[in-house]
Amino acid sequence: MRVPLIAGNWKMNTTVSEAVELVKEMLPELDRIDNVDKVICPPFVSLAAIKELLKGSTIKLGAQNLYFEEKGAYTGEISPLMLAELCEFVIIGHSERRQYFNETIEIVDKKVQAALKVGLTPILCIGETLEENEAGKTEEILTRQLSSPSARLYYLGGSILAYEPIWAIGTGRAASGGQANDTIGFIRQHIAQQHGQGIAQEVRILYGGSVTANNIAEFINQPEIDGALVGGASLKASEFLSIVRQTSEIKGRLSEES
Ligand code: PEP
Repeated sequence: MRVPLIAGNWKMNTTVSEAVELVKEMLPELDRIDNVDKVICPPFVSLAAIKELLKGSTIKLGAQNLYFEEKGAYTGEISPLMLAELCEFVIIGHSERRQYFNETIEIVDKKVQAALKVGLTPILCIGETLEENEAGKTEEILTRQLSSPSARLYYLGGSILAYEPIWAIGTGRAASGGQANDTIGFIRQHIAQQHGQGIAQEVRILYGGSVTANNIAEFINQPEIDGALVGGASLKASEFLSIVRQTSEIKGRLSEES
């Protein structure tokens, strides 16, 4: 049984003091919820302060991006080595980065490899646009996004995938549980064909796109979906806590039934 995981992507929200307040608000209860990996991904500038707050807790810390070089003349960039001192996870290839910062499949691949090299766990985001979805190209796009020659290393290194249909991110228009389950099932099948059933059954694949406390159950009740990457709803303590709590309860029940 794969351990479910809920990751909160705070995007470019919260100053350091706001981030510290938000963590303090959710920490005691979030810390107590078990059977689910809990990851928060605040902006870079808050990582050090939040690392201190999370010491001794069950909550893990992630970054939202990195640069693939370890050091050098890359003004403004943050390297894998810098992050490795601060956190365990890193979101890579988020559609906002692919869309607004021109991150290509090749750049995303370099970033995943750079993260794995220093022991960070990538949360690799993949997903199709509305246009591609409506043209029936979802599977083709996902296959392309997972086609790196080093993809096998991604999975052996414990990378997590997040299927995030771009039309569902920040739009309030989530996929249905069935739709997300079918697509994640396709991704798992593709990995099985390329790398074997063992790897495919181990890799955790999350759903992301307008997840809230009201719809999380619909996703978590699906057998292929191992958790969620949550954007907007991760910025409200009560909402995020409810998402994590429901995930723990539902996956706990499903595992007892199986
Ligand atoms: C995200 O940022 O990855 C995301 C899924 O955002 P939202 O939950 O706000 O749609």
